[in-house]
Amino acid sequence: MAEENDCIFCKIIKGEIPSAKVYEDEDVYAFLDLGQITKGHTLIVPKVHQKDIFHLDPEIAAKLFRRVPVIADAINKAFHPVGLNLLNNNGTLAGQSVFHYHVHLIPRYGKDDTINFGFQTHTDDYTNEQRAAIAQAISSHIH
Ligand code: 5GP
Ligand code: ZN
Repeated sequence: MAEENDCIFCKIIKGEIPSAKVYEDEDVYAFLDLGQITKGHTLIVPKVHQKDIFHLDPEIAAKLFRRVPVIADAINKAFHPVGLNLLNNNGTLAGQSVFHYHVHLIPRYGKDDTINFGFQTHTDDYTNEQRAAIAQAISSHIH
C-alpha cells in the first residue's frame, strides 16, 4: 500500500478526518494541532505526501515556507503571544510521530508554557579547526 493511503494528514487534507482548518490553498493545508501545546498551536503541511525533510522537494518547501510568516502573523493578530517557536521533527528519534512533513507553529505566552527545549550547548568541546572540518564535510555535499 502506498504510504499516503495510510497517512492521517493526507486524510485530513482530503477531508476524510475532520480538522480545525486555519488556511488552505492549492499547495498547503494548515490546521490546529490536536495537542494544542499552547493556544493556537498550528501545523502547516504540503498537500503532497512527503515524509520528512530528507524527502521534501525544495520547490514544495518554498511554497510551504512562504506561508509560514503569513500564518504566524495571523496567530499574532488573533492571540497576541509574546513569542513563537517554529518546530519540525524528522525521524522517530527526533520526535516525529506523523510521517507527513509538517512545521509546527507554537505561540508562546509566558514562562508557564508547557514547552521546554532545554538545549545543552557544547561550544567549548570544539576548536575552530574542528568546526571548519565539520562545516566542510557538510558543504561538500551541497551542489
Ligand atoms: P510530530 O510529533 O510528528 O512532530 O507532530 C505530530 C503532531 O500531530 C502532534 O503534535 C499531534 O498532536 C498531531 N496530531 C496527531 N494526530 C492528529 C490528528 O488526527 N489531528 C490533528 N489536528 N493533529 C494530530
Ligand atoms: Zn500524507
